[in-house]
Amino acid sequence: MKTAVLGGGLSGLSAGYYLLRRFGNPLTIYEASPRVGGWIRTEARRDRDFIFETGPRTIRPVGIPGANTLEMMEELQLPLKPIPRSHVAARNRMLYAKGQLCMLPNSPRGLFGVKPPFTQPLYKALLHDLSTGRTLASNEDESIYSFAERRFGKEIADYAISPMICGICAGDAKQISVRFLMEGLFEKEQKYGGVLKGILYARFKDNVDEKKPGLFAQDQPKLYAQALQEKWAMYSIEGGLEVLPRAMRKYLDQHNVNVQLSNACQTLTFSKSGVRMSLRNADVPVDHVVSSLPAYKLAPLLKPQHPSLCEQLLEIPYVNVVVVNIQYNGNQLKQDGFGLLVPPVEKLPILGVIFDSCCFDMNGNTVLTVMMGGHWFDQWFGHQPSQKQILDIAKKYVREILDIQEEPKFSRVHILPKCIPQYTVGHKERVKRIRKYLKDYKLPLSLCGAAFDGVGINDVILSARRQVDAIP
Ligand SMILES: Cc1cc2nc3c(=O)[nH]c(=O)nc-3n(C[C@H](O)[C@H](O)[C@H](O)COP(=O)(O)OP(=O)(O)OC[C@H]3O[C@@H](n4cnc5c(N)ncnc54)[C@H](O)[C@@H]3O)c2cc1C
Repeated sequence: MKTAVLGGGLSGLSAGYYLLRRFGNPLTIYEASPRVGGWIRTEARRDRDFIFETGPRTIRPVGIPGANTLEMMEELQLPLKPIPRSHVAARNRMLYAKGQLCMLPNSPRGLFGVKPPFTQPLYKALLHDLSTGRTLASNEDESIYSFAERRFGKEIADYAISPMICGICAGDAKQISVRFLMEGLFEKEQKYGGVLKGILYARFKDNVDEKKPGLFAQDQPKLYAQALQEKWAMYSIEGGLEVLPRAMRKYLDQHNVNVQLSNACQTLTFSKSGVRMSLRNADVPVDHVVSSLPAYKLAPLLKPQHPSLCEQLLEIPYVNVVVVNIQYNGNQLKQDGFGLLVPPVEKLPILGVIFDSCCFDMNGNTVLTVMMGGHWFDQWFGHQPSQKQILDIAKKYVREILDIQEEPKFSRVHILPKCIPQYTVGHKERVKRIRKYLKDYKLPLSLCGAAFDGVGINDVILSARRQVDAIP
């Protein structure tokens, strides 16, 4: 079978990796830009002994998606840099709210005191859940904000859930589907009439053993077992996360997969004999295409033959994110931790700050990443913000919140247009409808990538694997 992959981001490279395993060659990956990796980009300042990550920086080794990624890391023999759960970057997560830096509770004891920005002990939110009955039918969807407010109260929705959604997808919790992150909790509520009741009941009844992820026919990956044993909270790769797509590219090259850069696909035309892709200099026929493109990039490729599919893809919205990497000499932080998030109710132009140099050793430098924009990009930055305007805002908040008065020695501003898809209410059904369309019309096209099955690194790798496994 002759297969092709559209997109050389992490999901496209993963699709190539799994297609090679399943069908072998001939296989070609077409990437529009001159490099692989998509949003994964590491700037290594070797002369200065630190790195800037423009996109993702850490991976969580959790559950089947986490185990699946670690299996790939193992095969590629990548040097991982784990952060155990006991590390300060895993334990200390902060909010900037009500004019102060607030440490989030990191142990069950933290449920009982009153800690800002909360005005009540957190156990009261659990009592709220226990005393509130089920209110939605199980086949419906709602925003994660409204679910959290219903179950745990407004304070939790504003100061715990909303900033968490900013940290994960730069989105507005009032629009993001509860099924994006809390599907399990939502379903427990629907089944047992409460989140806590559901968790307790499921624990006694189902006796889940998370040490046995079901995807692997025999043993779980060794690295996953190691991560469980050593209690990793997250990890990166020596040299930065861009090492991963580079290693995948090398692996694919070594196995004679044709990776074509600067060769965007412009249209896909389906016929009884397969699919024809129009590329830079030629039209190429293949038997099956796996697309890892962002939904809004795939949509126009399908429009001439399948306008309604195109419209459905365009219903998946995206947000722009601003990433400002900053470096200072010496240790400038007064409080160590993973970083801080700013709840949207605070109405500040930053989403949060990541303390990169607390997570990983940067040879005595302080390296921070200020995230901005997301759902609120237009509101704060309009259509064409200047790099200086953005850098000034980042520096102002770092000064005010973290009390770092020095000028950064080195900084970089990146505006990442339409980089994170938003799983708004109804997303799961939308994706089901899109895939049903492909099935109904028997189109030899599979869809993976951040637009569909989860926005994190683990999700896009697993999405590629599952889509390749499902090819008839
Ligand atoms: C700022 C930021 C921080 C993040 N932090 C984390 C994190 O810490 N941990 C984590 O797990 N995840 C994180 N993520 C998410 C993670 O980076 C993404 O899930 C992942 O990189 C998406 O990969 P992808 O292959 O699906 O998409 P992309 O990276 O968007 O790749 C798609 C590729 O398709 C190419 N393309 C587009 N059109 C065409 C065409 N017509 N023909 C051929 N090629 C085309 C593009 O050039 C691109 O290379 C972050 C994302 C961002 C933006």
